[in-house]
Amino acid sequence: MAKTEEKTVPPVTLVDPIELSELDRDFREEIHSMPNGEELGACFACSTCTAACPIANSWDYKPHQLVRMILLGMRKEVLASDEIWLCLTCFECQERCPQNVRVTDILFDCKNLAAEEGRIPPNVAELGKELVEQGQLYVITADWEREDLGLEPSLPGLQTEEVRNMLKKSRTGRMLGEDD
Ligand code: SF4
Ligand code: SF4
Repeated sequence: MAKTEEKTVPPVTLVDPIELSELDRDFREEIHSMPNGEELGACFACSTCTAACPIANSWDYKPHQLVRMILLGMRKEVLASDEIWLCLTCFECQERCPQNVRVTDILFDCKNLAAEEGRIPPNVAELGKELVEQGQLYVITADWEREDLGLEPSLPGLQTEEVRNMLKKSRTGRMLGEDD
């Protein structure tokens, strides 16, 4: 009988191997103990969240993978990932999860943790600063448009000062270095 030739080629891996010594075992508990994390451990990796996500196709880490990474303790990778900031907050994943895992809200928690560590993408930080400085994100009608229409330069009754003051004293203001 012919001898089967031994294979010497290493197996093909589609993802980088996980370095067990680099896992943060407390990360799972950190997210689990937050108000949105109660059902985290119930995830059975069905990928329904990813199938429901309108933009996951362009992500390196899909929603179900991010949930799995949290469960494994891949804190560094999750908090440094672009995906947590690219989430559209459409809640499609969360609505469809058969295990009631609050995927969208968990991504919010991850953003908050990343922000507390100073990992805020520059475009998000700029938006945050604008919000804290102006008390609003979008100018409802630009001054020049109002002038063209023969209206007063400012929108009558628009009060943003209290919002500005409140935001400056908030955690968001402190994280963005906008507190007094
Ligand atoms: S849909 Fe829910 S149970 Fe399925 S992988 Fe996503 S989080 Fe886990
Ligand atoms: S909330 Fe975010 S992760 Fe969930 S489906 Fe929408 S874009 Fe995807």
